Order: sequence, then C-alpha cells, then structure tokens
Amino acid sequence: MKADLRINKNKGIKLISILRARCPACHTGKILEKGVSIRARCPHCDLNLHPEPGFYLGAMVIGFFLTAFLTIPPLIALKAYNVDLDILLAFPFIEFFFIGTFLVFYCRILWLHLEYQLTRKLNNS
Ligand SMILES: [Zn+2]
Repeated sequence: MKADLRINKNKGIKLISILRARCPACHTGKILEKGVSIRARCPHCDLNLHPEPGFYLGAMVIGFFLTAFLTIPPLIALKAYNVDLDILLAFPFIEFFFIGTFLVFYCRILWLHLEYQLTRKLNNS
C-alpha cells in the first residue's frame, strides 16, 4: 500500500516535470533556454541533455504516434456522425494549425524523459 502511493507520487512528479519542461533526473532544472531550444546540460544537476548527435530525431517517432492518436480516433468519430467530407478533410489541417507547435515542443521533452527512464532502468539492472 505504501509502495503504491510512492509510485503514484513519482508518476505525478514526472508528469508535472514533462508539462513544465524540467529535467528528467532532478525535476528542477529548466530544459529550455530562450523559449524553444534545449540546453546542452541541466543547470541544476548537470545532466547531459544532448546524449549523442541527432538524439532528438527520435522525437519524430513520438510525434508520429501522438499525431496518429490525436487524428485517427476523432476522424473515425466524425465519420460515424456523417460529418461533411470537406470538414473531414480540413480537420487534420485545422487541428495541427492549433496544436502543431505544442506537439513539436512536447515530443522532444517526452523523448528526453523516455530515454532517461529507459537508460536508467538498463543501468540499474
Ligand atoms: Zn537536472
């Protein structure tokens, strides 16, 4: 019971850390500088935020799955309600006009947190 509460608390901290764009290790240092560019190292714990060249290309995979998740189910729902074809075709463009920037932004942060969690588990085992 006590361990379950600790696990849920850690997940909440990680989610807040992702939403606030904080370091995956210390959850305190800001990942971003000047708004959108990712720092070379965490200013709080000195974690390397660019582990290898081209590291953030992997964020495109996250972006692909998030895009599919945010586009396909709404399109199926719109089709089920017999919405006009013009609206069906315009939906993805309108959707990404509003959330495209946030997707690009959060895909990199999600990728960094995912990589940190996986490599930490590999290093601990
Ligand atoms: Zn840090």
